[in-house]
Amino acid sequence: MIVITSAHTPEERVMEIVEFIKKEGIQTHVSQGNDRTIIGLIGRIEPTLAEHLRQMKDVENVVKITKSYKLASRDFHPEDTIIQVGDVKIGGKELVIMGGPCAVESASQIDEIAALVKAAGAQVLRGGAFKPRTGPYSFQGVGVEGLVMMAEAGKKHGLLTITEVMTPEYVDICAEYADILQVGTRNMQNFDLLRKLGECGKPVLLKRGFSATYDELLNAAEYILAGGNPNVMLCERGIRTFETYTRNTLDLAAIPSLKQLSHLPVISDPSHGTGRRELVEPMSKASVAAGADGLIVEMHTDPDNSMTGDGVQSLFPDQFAALLQDLGKLAPLVGRSFRVPDLAAVN
Ligand code: PEP
Ligand code: MN
Repeated sequence: MIVITSAHTPEERVMEIVEFIKKEGIQTHVSQGNDRTIIGLIGRIEPTLAEHLRQMKDVENVVKITKSYKLASRDFHPEDTIIQVGDVKIGGKELVIMGGPCAVESASQIDEIAALVKAAGAQVLRGGAFKPRTGPYSFQGVGVEGLVMMAEAGKKHGLLTITEVMTPEYVDICAEYADILQVGTRNMQNFDLLRKLGECGKPVLLKRGFSATYDELLNAAEYILAGGNPNVMLCERGIRTFETYTRNTLDLAAIPSLKQLSHLPVISDPSHGTGRRELVEPMSKASVAAGADGLIVEMHTDPDNSMTGDGVQSLFPDQFAALLQDLGKLAPLVGRSFRVPDLAAVN
């Protein structure tokens, strides 16, 4: 349920209403809008309490929220959430581009790619140190050493870093080295992991499970938010459908749908969403046109020899740079900004 205060209700009065609700044993979540405050109520609310609140001075309306997730919903929090990571704002006007290899393979590999990611104009370096692989005999990532290599590359080239964390036990070490923690599609409903991320406070990019509904994704986000971590971004990375030409079907409608249902930033992953290099550019642009707050894109200097096999969906560095140039032109047409370096001047 949400309680909407009358326009321009003073803060002290809002706090009195909040205190009253808390005394009834109900958890609250306050969201300050431009002229009204929304007080979200979590827990079982007796009809008599709802009626009492409706009659209170300075309460404009009391609305029942039927969705199972609350903190993730736009009803509870009408304003967009903007996540500040270093000097980058995720979820604001400026597009945020995360680029890099599927996996960190060596210090020289991640250093070389980081330089190219930075030169192209992206803000975040991606790379998995721990890889969730379908088969147990496949390359599983270089582990903690990979975290160190990526942190060094990020620092050297002035990039934030994002890496996947697969188990609760590894949250602390990943949080020590990376700026953003990624939950992969296979772990979207690893509830112990989500709970641990709730406690950790680091920004989290939560990927949609490849068979998950929007409702399930938003409930997964709710675990992290309910644990006390407000810094969650959602990621559409393609779902499993009957189509086999593409690795997954990038669900473009998820982008505006999630933006409508939730206040959390939405990032698109056209690499895993298509599994085909030649589709990454058009689907990146389509994602931005559909309202994505950013992209996470795989790029490799030697995709044919990539250790995870995701080379087939990895852009070559020049393709990555060209895509970002185009995004610089596209962004203003869809109400966004994205500053790209003048490549002619760099070359
Ligand atoms: C990845 O980002 O490399 C990855 C494994 O992603 P997903 O969880 O979406 O498959
Ligand atoms: Mn990958």
